Amino acid sequence: MKVHSRKTDVVIIGGGASGLAAAITLRMRTKLDVLVIEKLDEPARKIRATGSGRCNITNTAAADYLKIVSFFTLIGLVTKSYENGLVYPYSESAADVADILIARTKQLGAELACGEEVVSVSKEQGADTDRSFAVVSKYKDADGEHEVSTEAKYVILACGGKAGPMFGTTGDGYRIARSLGHSIVTPVPVLTGIECAEWDKDRRPCAVSLAGTRSRGVVSLYKKGQHGGDTVEDADRTDKIFEEEGEIQFTKYGLSGICIFNMTRHMRFDSAGGESLSDFVITADLFPGRDIEKVLRVRRDRAFPHERTSEVLRGVLKENVAEYVLGSVYAPGKESLDKEIRSIPDREMTAIGDAVHSMTFHPVRLRGWKDAQATAGGVSLREIDEETSGSKLVDGLYITGELADKDYQCGGFNLSNAWISGLRAAEAIADHHTK
Ligand SMILES: Cc1cc2nc3c(=O)[nH]c(=O)nc-3n(C[C@H](O)[C@H](O)[C@H](O)COP(=O)(O)OP(=O)(O)OC[C@H]3O[C@@H](n4cnc5c(N)ncnc54)[C@H](O)[C@@H]3O)c2cc1C
Repeated sequence: MKVHSRKTDVVIIGGGASGLAAAITLRMRTKLDVLVIEKLDEPARKIRATGSGRCNITNTAAADYLKIVSFFTLIGLVTKSYENGLVYPYSESAADVADILIARTKQLGAELACGEEVVSVSKEQGADTDRSFAVVSKYKDADGEHEVSTEAKYVILACGGKAGPMFGTTGDGYRIARSLGHSIVTPVPVLTGIECAEWDKDRRPCAVSLAGTRSRGVVSLYKKGQHGGDTVEDADRTDKIFEEEGEIQFTKYGLSGICIFNMTRHMRFDSAGGESLSDFVITADLFPGRDIEKVLRVRRDRAFPHERTSEVLRGVLKENVAEYVLGSVYAPGKESLDKEIRSIPDREMTAIGDAVHSMTFHPVRLRGWKDAQATAGGVSLREIDEETSGSKLVDGLYITGELADKDYQCGGFNLSNAWISGLRAAEAIADHHTK
């Protein structure tokens, strides 16, 4: 192993959203030497994957929306906001966002060290002098393995959380922050799909038949015991903790889609206290604001009584969803409800209505880090100054982006947090430096 050393003013650990925003702002505002250390071979890999390749940069409802749009305007990226509040680059290309951030970082004179992984950060005890941080990193090249020790005056920890480990975010920041005295709220994957018991192959009907189907509807989340219900069935009626209308994606494992992603942020439970995912139940209303029973009765009593139930439902639901609903209303072995509508009594109409308006799913597992778009948990917010992203425990240390215990719903809010916390860290360092 070859050992090297170098000196700089600011080390930014992680060339992702918050790290590059900080590097650019620092170089625009100061003459400080800035070194971005990125462990992957190129920076901004996750940014390229955001927004399904379109990069939902921010949202008009985000607290610092105007500041974020000004930042991108300043660096030369044209953005466009849509009626639903979502803001994208005008080209709708996430690659354009990544490319312009990398180009400006280099053009403004920040140094980028890629393929180099930071393994530790320490600060000289009681050190008040310049360059009191020692940042140790490792890389490999044709000459073998190298270890570099970098002395710096300021360190920005911008290495993200654990969501999307293929983009370099494997939770290194937690270890580094902990070694510097910070406490970590246990990280959990959020904005991810939900595996449900209804997809069990032995179950009849088995919801795997729905894989690949998308339906609009209102999804609701209930937790047993929230307001007194002791069983999931009680919870079903009493303890709603989340509701959102949107596109529900039925997959080969369970439920996905933005409304389901947002739901996962509310599926927190205390396993030490005996809670588990099976304390939750999800319902989907696939005909929100309307009354499917009324539709069925009108067909039965006034027109087309010879039509089969599945044919009537098909005007409202996709074919396989209608089949699943009818299969779930009747226990196996009993007569199918897919029969002429004139032979369906009111009681069975109500059962079909309940199944369409309250299709029920029982979560067994959240999809893991690979599928998650964000991390809940991270460096405790009690230990970070919101205005500057500065550590309240270690002078000269800044903690930005998803590494901190913050997570938001889909719609550009997670990137907003990354940009703004990076900008704040850079501004705080610039202000401190020019004092
Ligand atoms: C598939 C996907 C799509 C998404 N789409 C959106 C969207 O459209 N809108 C939105 O608002 N949010 C979206 N997000 C979330 C958003 O991308 C993140 O919240 C945001 O990128 C977090 O920024 P960050 O600066 O904290 O970290 P990141 O952007 O994750 O960057 C961290 C960087 O640190 C590097 N690193 C880690 N450890 C080390 C180490 N030890 N040494 C050196 N470097 C290290 C990593 O390689 C990485 O490049 C999406 C996430 C995913 C996974």
